[in-house]
Amino acid sequence: MKTVLVTGGSRGIGKCVTENLAKDGFNVVLNYNKSEKQAKEIKENLSKQGINIEIYKADVSKREDVKKLVKFALNKFKNIDILINNAGIAKLQMFNDITDEDWNEMINTNLNSVFYTTQEVLPNMIHNKNGCIINISSIWGIVGASCEVAYSVSKAGIDGMTKSLAKELGLSNIRVNSIAPGVIDTEMNSNLDNAIKEQIKDETPLNKIGKPIDIYRCIKWLIEDEFTTGQIISPNGGYVI
Ligand code: NAP
Repeated sequence: MKTVLVTGGSRGIGKCVTENLAKDGFNVVLNYNKSEKQAKEIKENLSKQGINIEIYKADVSKREDVKKLVKFALNKFKNIDILINNAGIAKLQMFNDITDEDWNEMINTNLNSVFYTTQEVLPNMIHNKNGCIINISSIWGIVGASCEVAYSVSKAGIDGMTKSLAKELGLSNIRVNSIAPGVIDTEMNSNLDNAIKEQIKDETPLNKIGKPIDIYRCIKWLIEDEFTTGQIISPNGGYVI
């Protein structure tokens, strides 16, 4: 049975991915930070269906927390076959309003977390000569977003890490890819009013906003695939082509 570690699995995309991979028969470690109640509910609901998952609180923006998270996962399941770097935050603000604190929080949470988790998990994957790392970036890392400079930089950084690491780790049979979603209907976008959502829909060739399940399907494909690495795959309804 393969083991998958999902960061930020308590809500939104991470919740959907965690639940579905658990139902698919993977050993799952769900990481959460602030949403303990939601994480426990996910575990309980799955348990009612006869499925066991492990949950672990860790702030992935902190190296020490990540060390403990990875140690916990390895103690439970011996290996980590798949790492899904999903945890992230977003903040809308004008570039000149970004404080050092805002900037560091964004980079620590969205980008440095991927550096930490990947470094902590890699010795196990390299030892096994097998691994699949999936980083959730964003279309805004590809095309840039006004009033989301820090966010866009953090996601572009992830894509740079994906491409470089794929080259470094290919001979160890470790695949590294990014999924760069378009707009997905989660709490992260709860600040968008309906008019803006309609406008995004109108500008999207498939005329819809994405759902977390769209990202799960892409992840499932990347887990099963054996010839894709270093790619930035963007499920976005055609919004960015
Ligand atoms: P969401 O609904 O706001 O959920 C964010 C998740 O990240 C939560 O489970 C949260 O956990 C976790 N998280 C945040 N900071 C964390 C930290 N320091 N340590 C551990 N976990 C942390 O957002 P979402 O829409 O599902 O986004 C998931 C990923 O997709 C993010 O990386 C986001 O940038 C990316 N993305 C989203 C969209 C979109 O339109 N929704 C588009 C492109 C990319 P707690 O609540 O437990 O703290």
